[in-house]
Amino acid sequence: MTTQTDAVTNASTAAEGASRTVTAWLASFDEALRAHDADAVADLFEEDGFWRDFVTFTWNLRTLEGRAQIRDMVAAMVADIAPSAWALAEPATEADGVHEAWITFETGAARGWGHLRLRDGKAWTLLTTMQELKGYEELRGPRREAGVEHTITKGRKTWLETREEHRARFGYEEQPYVVIVGGGQGGIGLAARLKRQGVPTIVVEKNERAGDSWRNRYKSLHLHDPVWYDHMPYIPFPDDWPVFAAKDQIGDWLEHYTALMDLDYWSGTECLGAEFDEADGTWRVRVKRWGEDVELRPTHLVFALGVSGYPHIPEFEGADTFAGEQWHSSAFSGEGDFAGKNAVVIGSNNSAHDIAAALWEQDANVTMVQRSSTHISRSASLMDLALGDLYSERALENGVTTEKADMLFASWPYRILPEVQIPVYEAMAEQDREFYQALTDAGFDLDFGEDGSGLFLKYLRRGSGYYIDVGASQLLIDGRVALARGQVARIEEDAVVLEDGTRLPADLIVYATGYGSMNAWLEDLVSPEVADRVGKVWGFGSDTTRDPGPWEGELRNMWKPTNVDQLWIHGGNLHQSRHYSRYLALQLKARMEGIDTPVYGLQETHHTR
Ligand SMILES: Cc1cc2nc3c(=O)[nH]c(=O)nc-3n(C[C@H](O)[C@H](O)[C@H](O)COP(=O)(O)OP(=O)(O)OC[C@H]3O[C@@H](n4cnc5c(N)ncnc54)[C@H](O)[C@@H]3O)c2cc1C
Repeated sequence: MTTQTDAVTNASTAAEGASRTVTAWLASFDEALRAHDADAVADLFEEDGFWRDFVTFTWNLRTLEGRAQIRDMVAAMVADIAPSAWALAEPATEADGVHEAWITFETGAARGWGHLRLRDGKAWTLLTTMQELKGYEELRGPRREAGVEHTITKGRKTWLETREEHRARFGYEEQPYVVIVGGGQGGIGLAARLKRQGVPTIVVEKNERAGDSWRNRYKSLHLHDPVWYDHMPYIPFPDDWPVFAAKDQIGDWLEHYTALMDLDYWSGTECLGAEFDEADGTWRVRVKRWGEDVELRPTHLVFALGVSGYPHIPEFEGADTFAGEQWHSSAFSGEGDFAGKNAVVIGSNNSAHDIAAALWEQDANVTMVQRSSTHISRSASLMDLALGDLYSERALENGVTTEKADMLFASWPYRILPEVQIPVYEAMAEQDREFYQALTDAGFDLDFGEDGSGLFLKYLRRGSGYYIDVGASQLLIDGRVALARGQVARIEEDAVVLEDGTRLPADLIVYATGYGSMNAWLEDLVSPEVADRVGKVWGFGSDTTRDPGPWEGELRNMWKPTNVDQLWIHGGNLHQSRHYSRYLALQLKARMEGIDTPVYGLQETHHTR
């Protein structure tokens, strides 16, 4: 009989064995890297193994797929990067023939944290991420500033006076190193990281108050993602914060966060356009600040205007003849007298469902128009099956902190993420079989993604195509919200007409038709030529082409050097904004400090500025 003591002993022996295996691999890896032997490094990986690097080796976000790509990257970069000090961060584990380990390492410029999976002694996946630049560590913990000078001198300035003087000067006599255009959660989180790094930054936001990008959305909106997924950098939500915060709570949180982090946040400031000044290597960013024209001259310009920021409204014939009210979902507040009105919601993703439900709650006769298939995950199932191991109380109890969860998520290269996700959605389909059947019976066109990999991959590939069910599906199942399938042919004075001739009487129309590419912002605010040079933003494919182009293993042009020097793009959902802002901030800090940042895998050479 195995006693409890035996079980503990066996577990610790297994951990020691796993740790020995990983330590031996790390020693060989270290030796091969020190010898600049790219072949030997590549041979430590499986033939089709993966190395995902966030900034440490590539000064880029890159996934190397297979030995040949790994060999090429190492041959190109190892001399500059000078990696060393590979070590286990905590005891390794072994399960189903996979050794898994958290590791630390250094490069000449930085300290890194990583995650490794070995199979039969070879690396299957390796993730290497930059955590801090040597010599430029954040002033936190024991390094924090005193905040006050204890030598009393006459004319000392208070903190408030110093800050007010700074605010009067900054952006006028004194220029920021970085301007972030767009002060939603993305711009705010990145600015907080840059502040901690000592990078002078101004966020310009056209709304009146930080948080308005959430406040201005339809009134019934709550986050679809649970609290464990949603923290901002540095200040987590308190542990009684609701699982699904209301949009106004998030708005208030962001406003207070901006104040507490003491950000240089210019609200009421619209960016009108930006041009790069070749003569002095800075951007000229034209903004209107509370009506005043101001020109900012940052070295780096970050667009943080939102994946869901540029409303996409298809041009339907006759829309201008519609006699009732019509809105894009982003402009629909949910306020109004809708009782007895015929409401048509065009679209069948998150916003369409939320808005259809809100209108039904207010006694409208609602029809949802579904053009193409939609993935539905029930919220509870998503939290349990897809997020539960990473972002939940259960995960926290198992020692999976938010930082670890972000890393574990990233440890799966996008090429194999579908393989990891498919079983999750198969389990969901099985668990919620009756629900899915009822939806199908109601005429709803369901999908689980092009390869069955579900919600997150749809989000990565297209930024849309799903609804996290928080109740609206039942309204469709019960017929309380009507469903019409097909393409809209035209809008008439009092109706939406589908291609099959179906005529849907309408007093109001909501176009929940999604959002345009972030590339469109560049076209509007910089120029079509610059938008073209940057290439497509978001989704998979090549960074440098306007069409999807060949697969390059990372989201296009997000959080990494673009093909236009000193121009960056930031954004994503709360988890992505939180995690990837770290890497973008470090890239900007390195450039500010004049650290050499040779970028691997870009078409055009980038210089350190
Ligand atoms: C209905 C809905 C629900 C969502 N639910 C979730 C969720 O539950 N969890 C989650 O993680 N994500 C969710 N998202 C996705 C995403 O997290 C949000 O869209 C989020 O607001 C993105 O943050 P952002 O900072 O990247 O962009 P945004 O919040 O869109 O911020 C961009 C900012 O740029 C400003 N701006 C635009 N043009 C200019 C200009 N010319 N000058 C100055 N400022 C300008 C805008 O006013 C805006 O404040 C949801 C999105 C929508 C639409």
